[in-house]
Amino acid sequence: MSIEHWMVFGTFAEQRHFEYPAKGTYDGVVINANMAAHAPGGLAAFLLEKTAGMQYIIDPLTHAFQHGCKAILNKEGEPKSSIRRLAEIYGEPVASNVGKIPINPEHFSDEKVLRKFVRQCLDFQSNQLKEQMVKSKVAKYLDDDKREFHPYALVAPYFYLTESTLDDWLPKNLDAALIASELTDSSKSLRFASIVVSQGIVTDTEARRRIIEGYSKLDIDGFLFWVDALDEQTASKTELRGLLALASGLRKNGERFVLNLHGGYFSILAAGALGNGVLTGVAHGPEFGEYREVVPVGGGIPIAKYYIPQLHSRVRYRDALRIFRAAGWLDDADKFHAEVCNCAECQSVLDGDIANFKKFGEGTVKSIRRKHGIVRIEFPTGETKLRCLRHYLQRKKREYDVAAEEANRTILLNNLREGEDKFKSIAGLDAVAHLRLWRSIFSPEEET
Ligand SMILES: [Zn+2]
Repeated sequence: MSIEHWMVFGTFAEQRHFEYPAKGTYDGVVINANMAAHAPGGLAAFLLEKTAGMQYIIDPLTHAFQHGCKAILNKEGEPKSSIRRLAEIYGEPVASNVGKIPINPEHFSDEKVLRKFVRQCLDFQSNQLKEQMVKSKVAKYLDDDKREFHPYALVAPYFYLTESTLDDWLPKNLDAALIASELTDSSKSLRFASIVVSQGIVTDTEARRRIIEGYSKLDIDGFLFWVDALDEQTASKTELRGLLALASGLRKNGERFVLNLHGGYFSILAAGALGNGVLTGVAHGPEFGEYREVVPVGGGIPIAKYYIPQLHSRVRYRDALRIFRAAGWLDDADKFHAEVCNCAECQSVLDGDIANFKKFGEGTVKSIRRKHGIVRIEFPTGETKLRCLRHYLQRKKREYDVAAEEANRTILLNNLREGEDKFKSIAGLDAVAHLRLWRSIFSPEEET
């Protein structure tokens, strides 16, 4: 069983990670529409030069226009330039309302308005990067089989659903998906809808049923799928089971493509043999991004974190250091590679000397002005962040490979149990609780 491994494009600085650990690691890239509106030339070059042959999807990001305006404004109170550009391209009703009034379902009460909006949104996805790529010099030197400029799928415009807004937005989303499926040339791109929902929706049986039923009647090929801020490490059993149930219903016995836009190891397992492939694939950002809020809440202070492979979680460097030290895994490099990680990045950073483990946590102290005066805060260096990231990407690739190739459910379940047993006494029960929960969800017959 193969598990599609996609990445979400973040910033141009991260381009190089799309060929790490190796070219061909990723099946595709999801690009946010505001980036495509803002920097089409750079993105076309990225697709041709960094990812020749990699499939791409443009997420139309239409939900951005429904949120309180603060979410899309810059510090000066003006709409962010990339969002304004996108609004101009999509036309009405967003063009004249952006930065003033959030979009409501009533803005689409005229079917003609919705139809035109869907058309603009699909035209943008079809043409924006394709035209740039066709113009590019690099394209002339590519083999014919690498000349695929159409997006893998066109995504119907969509809005974010919560329990209290489902009645208002779901009919609009369904109408938009129906129109989009009629307008899309399915010989060039698949026809996708996007399901972006609150945690309340995934835990509500009736809400899930309505969404699944609504889309099952449409002639479409798949979905982008995103549950707001669902952190698999801290999620409850009800939330994780709800996620599986909703994904499974959308997947329609494997007929349709379902890509979780922001998922971690639980989703990877769900896409593989353990979860009976209820997801086709899982995406994450090159800068981790295994869960994300629909309305961004702004970044905190960056902290160096080391991904502990057997816990499938990123742990603050200082905590990782304490755990590994207590367990005796920092006695020498061989011990570390045997017990923690032997990936190419860890081998190269340690270079045979366990003292080099500190390179995953090195930082520089900066003075920051805060409300109550100046504080001194340590920030990880660029090199530290890069080391942590490369180790993470190495392990991520391995997770997809193991979950896909290991058809034996018992082995995958045992891996979770081993992680729990190994880390419980040194990292604490809470640090391993998610492994126990995931195991119980994937093996309900063996509740432990
Ligand atoms: Zn490693």
